[in-house]
Amino acid sequence: MRILLIGPPGAGKGTQAVRLATHLSIQHISTGELFREHIDQGTELGQNAHTHMRAGLLVPDEVTIGVIKERLARPDTERGFLLDGFPRNVAQAQALDGILADAESRLDAVLDLEIPEAEVVRRIAGRRLCRQDRGHIFHVDYSPPEVTGVCDVCGGELYQRDDDRETTVSKRLEVYRSETAPVADHYRAQGLVTTVSALGQAQEVLERALIAISQDQVDASGASSR
Ligand code: ADP
Repeated sequence: MRILLIGPPGAGKGTQAVRLATHLSIQHISTGELFREHIDQGTELGQNAHTHMRAGLLVPDEVTIGVIKERLARPDTERGFLLDGFPRNVAQAQALDGILADAESRLDAVLDLEIPEAEVVRRIAGRRLCRQDRGHIFHVDYSPPEVTGVCDVCGGELYQRDDDRETTVSKRLEVYRSETAPVADHYRAQGLVTTVSALGQAQEVLERALIAISQDQVDASGASSR
């Protein structure tokens, strides 16, 4: 299966993406995470990306599209993938459509996680990640670790992403409204989008997402047999 997970920053894309990809046995690919790996490794690409990320801006398309193209060319994506955080503007969506068309492949579903902005700000401000595995995500109020500052899963130290501070969050939301929201319209026109409410416990959101995906599959097979 080839799935896109879209929605504003703080909607819980990272949390849901890890769970959905595990559940569906497909690769989870997050452009934000690919950039953070470059930053940790101190690569030139990472330094360039970090300048934009710290300011709450998008990393330039030529860099982002190059990173995704390389990632999707690896054999571990043959069984499918779940893209989290890409595409983030219409130019990236068109580039992805081209990459898939060249590979004679197509998307199966686009899940749009929907959440009010006030909730986004609360979620991002309280978000804490584990230094040892950034897939271990906590929230100071909503899903606090048992011991403050320590990951329940592996004992790693919890920290706040530098772009999760309140000043950067409003810029990220502005970029989302102007650049990323139109991506949903791009795929809506292709009949691929299912909207899923991101409110409630992570497990409830996961269940809604899985239902949406299986419903899409039923619809798609119904359409092809007609
Ligand atoms: P969130 O979904 O919470 O914003 P991400 O980890 O997806 O977090 O992204 C963090 C930052 O990485 C973004 O604010 C942006 O600067 C950069 N980034 C991630 N994906 C892309 C992309 N597809 N295009 C441009 N920049 C990106």
